[in-house]
Amino acid sequence: MEPLPFETPADTVQRVASKLRCHPTDERVALRLDEEDKLRHFREYFYIPKMQDLPPIDLSLVNKDEDAIYFSGNSLGLQPKTVKTYLEEELQKWAKMGGYGHNIGKRPWITADEVITGLMTDIVGANEKEIVLMNGLTVNLHLLLLSFFKPTPKRHKILLEAKAFPSDHYAIESQLQLHRLSIDKSMRIIEPREGEETLRTEDILEVIEKEGDSIAVILFSGLHFYTGQFFNIPAITKAGQAKGCLVGFDLAHAVGNVELHLHDWGVDFACWCSYKYLNSGAGGIAGVFVHEKHTHTIKPALVGWFGHELSTRFKMDNNLQLIPGAHGFRISNPPIFLVCPLQASLEIFNKATMKALRRKSILLTGYLEYMIKHYYGKDKAETKKPVVNIITPSNIEDRGCQLTLSFSVPITYVFQELEKRGVVCDKREPNGIRVAPVPLYNSFHEVYKFINLFNAALDASKEKSSSV
Ligand SMILES: *Cc1c(COP(=O)(O)O)cnc(C)c1O
Repeated sequence: MEPLPFETPADTVQRVASKLRCHPTDERVALRLDEEDKLRHFREYFYIPKMQDLPPIDLSLVNKDEDAIYFSGNSLGLQPKTVKTYLEEELQKWAKMGGYGHNIGKRPWITADEVITGLMTDIVGANEKEIVLMNGLTVNLHLLLLSFFKPTPKRHKILLEAKAFPSDHYAIESQLQLHRLSIDKSMRIIEPREGEETLRTEDILEVIEKEGDSIAVILFSGLHFYTGQFFNIPAITKAGQAKGCLVGFDLAHAVGNVELHLHDWGVDFACWCSYKYLNSGAGGIAGVFVHEKHTHTIKPALVGWFGHELSTRFKMDNNLQLIPGAHGFRISNPPIFLVCPLQASLEIFNKATMKALRRKSILLTGYLEYMIKHYYGKDKAETKKPVVNIITPSNIEDRGCQLTLSFSVPITYVFQELEKRGVVCDKREPNGIRVAPVPLYNSFHEVYKFINLFNAALDASKEKSSSV
């Protein structure tokens, strides 16, 4: 995992404050952090929603022309400005030359996915042959499980974390049913300890050690969508493989958020979507990783013509020449209009680099954590302010940019009041609000503004809930 930066975020905030001779919560600290941020200009590559265009906005509370505080990149990333240009290029090509577009231009449609695969390598830490861009996330999860989950009477379980994303949970249930296995006996879910919100790595490793012989596949999320916990991928992979399990990860919330080294970690397989941190737009083309070591041993269970070698694909002789490795898993021809937005975004990622983004992210989220703890920590309880608890691990290596907050007061009003003030984040039952400042387009000053709006929202919701 990433080495800790020399200075903790709290130290940085305090150092900057003392240089400015002001309190760490002063606005000048945020402005200075922005000045020193070498990635700040990347915001200009994106369309940032304006306050006035948000459906739940209350125009009496905000300046309508200001940018909204968009802390929802974990749910749907913002639109890169070049998306439209790239889409228009392909629309033009289609209009002007029809089917000739398959073989011509910047993105010949037949190989459009391959044209941009190289832009993905540093983001997930894999070589081009190990990565394929296709379909949607859950579809890919199913395709991978069809190849990697081969239960035997002795080794029949799939191991996953508690409260996995519903789609992953259902995918696993239905895969077990496909093999006529009992969900009770074969779906092994690891729960956090009593009174804890996140899983301890030692507890995960212990289950693997004790039950590994009966586990066929370990399928964890890389970073948990609700708690924001970043699991120890290399440790889980190593422990699982030592017991003979295949180990895969759903990286929906990890990709474009934290640094990944799938190849070096020896992960067997992985999948991710591209519309969250990777900004490809709703329903964007998803990604799959199959480790090189499986190139000649694990084959797709379901095959289509785009898994056939390109050199002979269009001979149409019905003699399958399957591409070895990840690319053989492709079934259909690539969707050019989904490739364009992803390309636009990945080009920006490659300019910024994951390493630099992660470094900024640690400080950006650390600053948010610092401010929340300052105003709402448990030790402030006697001030009659509501207590805000951060569910997400405080250890930097165990989280990405998202913080999940839970409250000592009901969140319905808090969330409504935030939305009225132009803060875009999301509410998750039972009592959590997820906020994700994204290093690519969010700033330290936005975190500062968020804290002020958060204060106002909590005050307003207190009045509301006491008047009911
Ligand atoms: C967002 C997300 C999904 C969504 O699945 P789609 O197939 O893209 O609709 C699935 N799993 C996880 C873990 C997610 O975070």
